[in-house]
Amino acid sequence: MIEVGNVSFIKHIGDLLFDFLFPPRCPACGAYVERRGGWCPACLSAALRVRRLPLAAEHTDVLSGAWAFGLYHGVLRELLLPLKFKKRRDGLSAIHSFLSAADEVLPRAGWMPGIVVPVPLFAEKEKERGGNQTEMIFREWLTAQGWTWRNALVRTRATAPQYGLSATQRVENIKGAFSLTDDSYKEEVAGKSVLLVDDIFTTGATIAECARVLRKAGAAEVVAWTLASDRQ
Ligand SMILES: [Zn+2]
Repeated sequence: MIEVGNVSFIKHIGDLLFDFLFPPRCPACGAYVERRGGWCPACLSAALRVRRLPLAAEHTDVLSGAWAFGLYHGVLRELLLPLKFKKRRDGLSAIHSFLSAADEVLPRAGWMPGIVVPVPLFAEKEKERGGNQTEMIFREWLTAQGWTWRNALVRTRATAPQYGLSATQRVENIKGAFSLTDDSYKEEVAGKSVLLVDDIFTTGATIAECARVLRKAGAAEVVAWTLASDRQ
């Protein structure tokens, strides 16, 4: 019988073999890159569009600002859709390296949130998807900065998908759909700068509705960061 004394050595050989058979490639153009999840510099700089998003006037009373890191088309869309709808996690490492690159150009001037809160999915949908994609996208990156992640919000009812709805329909669809997970979160949210995270920003209706609940619970301010948006 062969004794396997060093599991990590075996894993390392396994990784090398995997990289040899399936060399890591840029998610956008397919060029070979050094490590899994890596991008070629040209595609990365083309995909990065870190910007402050314009807010609808009715959202400015609950949101202090909203940011997107990329455009919601092309490669980011292709990485995000399988994660959301097909339970495929293979695009996650490319999304994570995209966020690290965004981090370097995000002008946050020392701003730090007191707490990070993801936009929640309805429990049934989260189960169906095998998790909340927003959590898969952001949690590791933000907690690595020492920030406190709290699932402080829940979606209290199933809502129709926002895509395909008009701006007015989106507001109606999402109205009253969120609440604090339970009253114990009031203490965590009150007086804090809250960083609200979501995968996509379209009209901002969902994010503003979440921000409204957080401000009602006493949040000092709510700032939103989103992976991608089709807004310029
Ligand atoms: Zn490329």
